[in-house]
Amino acid sequence: KMQVGGNGEEENILVLVRLRPLSENEIARNEVADWECINSTTILYRNSLQERSGLPTAYTFDRVFSGDCSTREVYEEGTKDIALSVVGGINSTIFAYGQTSSGKTYTMNGITEYAVADIYDYIKRHEERAFVLKFSAMEIYNEVVKDLLNSDNTPLRLLDDPDRGTIVEKLTEETLRDWSHLKELLSICEAQRQIGETSLNETSSRSHQILRLSIESTAREFLGKDNSATLSASVNFVDLAGSERASQSLSVGQRLKEGCHINRSLLTLGTVIRKLSKGRHGHVNYRDSKLTRILQPALGGNGRTTIICTLSPARCHVEQSRNTLLFASCAK
Ligand code: ADP
Ligand code: MG
Repeated sequence: KMQVGGNGEEENILVLVRLRPLSENEIARNEVADWECINSTTILYRNSLQERSGLPTAYTFDRVFSGDCSTREVYEEGTKDIALSVVGGINSTIFAYGQTSSGKTYTMNGITEYAVADIYDYIKRHEERAFVLKFSAMEIYNEVVKDLLNSDNTPLRLLDDPDRGTIVEKLTEETLRDWSHLKELLSICEAQRQIGETSLNETSSRSHQILRLSIESTAREFLGKDNSATLSASVNFVDLAGSERASQSLSVGQRLKEGCHINRSLLTLGTVIRKLSKGRHGHVNYRDSKLTRILQPALGGNGRTTIICTLSPARCHVEQSRNTLLFASCAK
């Protein structure tokens, strides 16, 4: 089943925008909220000063979610279908993109939980098939890949496998016993990420986290008899590094510069996404970064992709918000 947009056309990439409410801190500082969702697809910048500047004031996407929408609503209306397509053998990837503090982790954590709960629910209702679920988790920081399920912190190498494409060598892959096992693993990842955060200073704003759930299923009548009857696919939940470090160079064209403030994986993701959004033809530069290499099997081929762009409504963040919407527009 392909993704179908409002105009009935096939779409490669679904782009959602989620506006968060003003935080208590922002309210305490008398920060003004300038962004507003005027319907389910359009977000508007309302600020009389800005309106005179000639910059666009209205942006349209597949779906926009206002500050009072719950993560449950974002999940149900924006990502449930693609998360569940994994049980049918279709790879999918869900990204959260946005500046630090715009709500990426908040959104992604909720969506991951809802998706996995639904997947388990699906499995319970399909006893005619045997399912095997595997979970792995990694973090990319400064183009170094680490295993979030292994505390020894050794950088992992990427290898090219002729059959499976890029694989992450020695990445822990846990076979899930049940839903509570997964919850356990998720909290290990979280703790592992926080350890990094104190030692590397704000890692989470500079690192990408990929949680991957792989599912194999076989109709019981074919179990152990016919391997070709096995469906396998994975869903990736990707909590990206803060976009503030990439956006400037993104808007100027994407010269890849080395430097601690520019994130190669985020920049390359931008160019890959733009290429994919125009159809899967020609050369796509997956190999230019660790993130895109790891995700290549999911982004290419029959993979389905959803990007949730998270946005702060605050006037003080307007420049970053515009950059995020520019990225979102390019992905369409
Ligand atoms: P990021 O991961 O993009 O840096 P977070 O997800 O950590 O941002 O969100 C920053 C803060 O804002 C957190 O305290 C989070 O709980 C809160 N927050 C984010 N999005 C929402 C939302 N939609 N509704 C309520 N609170 C939110
Ligand atoms: Mg975060």
